Amino acid sequence: MRVAIIGAGIVGASIARELSRYEVEVHLVEREADVGWGVSKANTGLIHAGYDDDPERFPNRARLCVEGNRIWHRWVEELDIPHAWSGALVIAKEESEVKVLEGLLRRGERNRVPELRILERDEALSMEPNLVKVEAALYAPTVGQISPPQAVIALVENAVDNGVKVHLDTEVRGVEVSGEKVRGLRTSAGFLEADIVINAAGLYADEISREVGADYFEIRPRKGEYLIFDEDAGPKPSRVLFPTPSERSKGVVVTTEVQGHLMVGPNAQDLPKEEKDDRSTTPKGLREIYKKASEIWPLPPLNKVIRTFSGLRPEPTGGDFVIRAEDVWGFVNVAGMRSPGLTAAPAVAKEVARILAGMGIDLREKTKWKVRRRGIHGNRAGQGRVICRCNLVREPEIREAIRRMKRIGVKTPSVDSVKFRTSATTGTCQGSFCRIEIASILAEEFNSPLWDVTLKGRGSELGVGDVKVLLRR
Ligand SMILES: Cc1cc2nc3c(=O)[nH]c(=O)nc-3n(C[C@H](O)[C@H](O)[C@H](O)COP(=O)(O)OP(=O)(O)OC[C@H]3O[C@@H](n4cnc5c(N)ncnc54)[C@H](O)[C@@H]3O)c2cc1C
Repeated sequence: MRVAIIGAGIVGASIARELSRYEVEVHLVEREADVGWGVSKANTGLIHAGYDDDPERFPNRARLCVEGNRIWHRWVEELDIPHAWSGALVIAKEESEVKVLEGLLRRGERNRVPELRILERDEALSMEPNLVKVEAALYAPTVGQISPPQAVIALVENAVDNGVKVHLDTEVRGVEVSGEKVRGLRTSAGFLEADIVINAAGLYADEISREVGADYFEIRPRKGEYLIFDEDAGPKPSRVLFPTPSERSKGVVVTTEVQGHLMVGPNAQDLPKEEKDDRSTTPKGLREIYKKASEIWPLPPLNKVIRTFSGLRPEPTGGDFVIRAEDVWGFVNVAGMRSPGLTAAPAVAKEVARILAGMGIDLREKTKWKVRRRGIHGNRAGQGRVICRCNLVREPEIREAIRRMKRIGVKTPSVDSVKFRTSATTGTCQGSFCRIEIASILAEEFNSPLWDVTLKGRGSELGVGDVKVLLRR
């Protein structure tokens, strides 16, 4: 039995890892040069508790978020994923907002979120003395944070160790169906035969779904922008801080992300459905998040911002995750994975395995399945030339990252691949000093001209190095 998963984001990677425990042949197909470069690259990175989603309106979101949170507690240990179980406070700034907290508490209890409680002003301030204004807070100790691209890498490394085949730089252009049954995928690298196709294509899952006539949902991009501050820029909260939420979004969060920087965002801006590639940030959006975050936390001045970025939520028609086997036999949609899709991903993967079992697929467990994967642990004080001065990333760590890239099938040398594996280029200087050093090591390890090393895949060549290389072509 051959399964092809379209999309190596957190959802496709989780499914690949989960299915790798069974006696099936799994192929993970991704059009980018590396894994985790879609929606999963740019988001808040929170493992939500599960009190946000109304179980009547969004049953998949409500159920799978709580289950996903529980599974992540185990997966981060098994896969050695950097994480922080910091807990969260939802801040009511004034009396009128306390009712909202009570509603969230009731909903959380219905969704079976453990350990939720409402704190009075003094207790909230004893946890976070720098809060600008607080009347009461909902405390959710099970909220955590991970680095999403690192989580995708960890899942894929483990999946590959367990036999999954990864096809990078491979775009799916069509789904071949005959006799109401899936036959395989037409891709930029040729035809890939498959008995089962799992559509985890993020923002583009509606377009893939239309290939088999399942056109009952659409995906629209909803942009969220962020600011990241320099490491020593000012006070950082120990917990994730949310404002009281609105119907459309959980609001602008203030948090210390896993690498230790103060991060604020996102806002929520609906884009036309054609603009699924618009990752720009706007002065208006960034001002908006700065202003909103300042209402709960004393932010450093804007000149302490080291990076801005934005991500696009794949908002499906109806708002709930679309997880189901379609009428064409063998085609399974895992679409519309907007927030809390990162949290829900492990539970979604288990749901997909249940769906396949329900279709009569024989999911026999392998006798030997490697449950553990070890991450790259830097050696800040140790041996080797320092390449990234801000984060003290040394040459052996960069080379280890490249070795691991090749092991999962990365063919295009990209600085971003190294960045997401080592944190090099993410410090105060944002790569001004080390990008070229990393590019040189990439060129050497991939046996490629420096000129051809890219920032983030084909089309983003750095164009540095010896111009004679170009002239010789
Ligand atoms: C601003 C923002 C904040 C968020 N915050 C949180 C949060 O704090 N917690 C949380 O739980 N969730 C959060 N989310 C949601 C979470 O990020 C998503 O649910 C999750 O990343 C979706 O993962 P995915 O694998 O479905 O999509 P993706 O990561 O986009 O993966 C899909 C992959 O499919 C590939 N692909 C697409 N078309 C093709 C094709 N034709 N051929 C081959 N490959 C293809 C893409 O390149 C991509 O890599 C947030 C989202 C955003 C945007």
